[in-house]
Amino acid sequence: MTFTISSPSLPHSLNLDNVRPQIKELQSELVAWRRRIHQKPELGFQEKITADFIAEKLQEWSIPHQTGIAKTGIVALIEGAKPGKVQAIRADIDALPIQEANEVPYRSQHDGKMHACGHDGHTAIALGTAYYLAQHKADLHGTVKIIFQPAEEGPGGAKPMIEEGVLKNPDVEQIIGLHLWNNLPLGTVGVRSGALMAASERFSLKISGRGGHGAMPDQTVDSIIVGSQIVNALQTIVSRNINPLDSAVVTIGEFRAGTNFNVIADSAFLCGTVRYFNPKLESLIPQRLETIVAGICESHGASYDLDYQQLYPATINDPKVAELVRSVATEVIETPVGIVPECQTMGGEDMSFFLQQVPGCYFFLGSANPDKGLAYPHHHPRFDFDETVLAMGVEIFVRCIEASGK
Ligand SMILES: [Zn+2]
Ligand SMILES: [Zn+2]
Repeated sequence: MTFTISSPSLPHSLNLDNVRPQIKELQSELVAWRRRIHQKPELGFQEKITADFIAEKLQEWSIPHQTGIAKTGIVALIEGAKPGKVQAIRADIDALPIQEANEVPYRSQHDGKMHACGHDGHTAIALGTAYYLAQHKADLHGTVKIIFQPAEEGPGGAKPMIEEGVLKNPDVEQIIGLHLWNNLPLGTVGVRSGALMAASERFSLKISGRGGHGAMPDQTVDSIIVGSQIVNALQTIVSRNINPLDSAVVTIGEFRAGTNFNVIADSAFLCGTVRYFNPKLESLIPQRLETIVAGICESHGASYDLDYQQLYPATINDPKVAELVRSVATEVIETPVGIVPECQTMGGEDMSFFLQQVPGCYFFLGSANPDKGLAYPHHHPRFDFDETVLAMGVEIFVRCIEASGK
């Protein structure tokens, strides 16, 4: 099978002139760290080798840090010599259960696991930021926490890290994070005020009817008929219950029922996901969903068992911090067309939990380079990104810290 490489068509330029020499010098190290992490991918809450590597580096640089937060999370603390704000940078460190199809020398050495979302790059950028700031403590205003978070791809490491006090003592006043983004070309930044990514929810539904002979439907309650009507009717939540100016998605990703051509299925199992930006939809969607399921089941004499889980809330940026990131990014990439102001995705992110606690901004750093064949989408077995982006990520983080430290 051949895959077409998507080619982001946005005009861009990659001007590394604005990356300071000390960060440019770090580039080969950033690549080496990223590749080392890439070779040993680990799933959520199993990031042992990754966490050991991070801790080893922090130790080597004499940066105080705490390990074992939410199992495999780490927080580094860099105290500037000058007074100022307490800021945080967050990077996720986990990989995905995907078999890597790339044949690069640094490909995954762990069967069935892969850094297919770029979190290896996030970790390298955060390490580079920690290193640079620690080297420049004499000029640094305030305190910076670098948060290395496990399990973003699930079940979620942000919430347990917050519960274990990662934002306290000293209390974080502002937080910034980034996602390398192959939907945008290298040399671009996607940032906006308000919702950047959607709330992510999951439901599973068991419909219990009454099985029987395929030729005698009158003696049965056909769970496939009931399930099909539910699949159709659930689409009216988006099309008829939600303001058309609000975006939302209801997807049924799984529908299992039946065993044979002449048997009416006794039960059916459906499962799906719900996405939306507007936090006001948090209760409306699950309520409508259950009302529809209950009504259709009742009208057919079936019963149901519904499990609805709200996984991650929407990722909502603070307007002031988003403006800070936007202006810093404009300075670094020096091209206004490279700033994508209305960049949004229905994908979810547990950075959202941090942003519920303190004002901050999450942004996308364009990392695709179709000319080098580096433009496969995230979570694809051939995902990879242009590593030139690593130094740029450090420069943007460092400038944001410097700009709001005082
Ligand atoms: Zn991902
Ligand atoms: Zn990701």
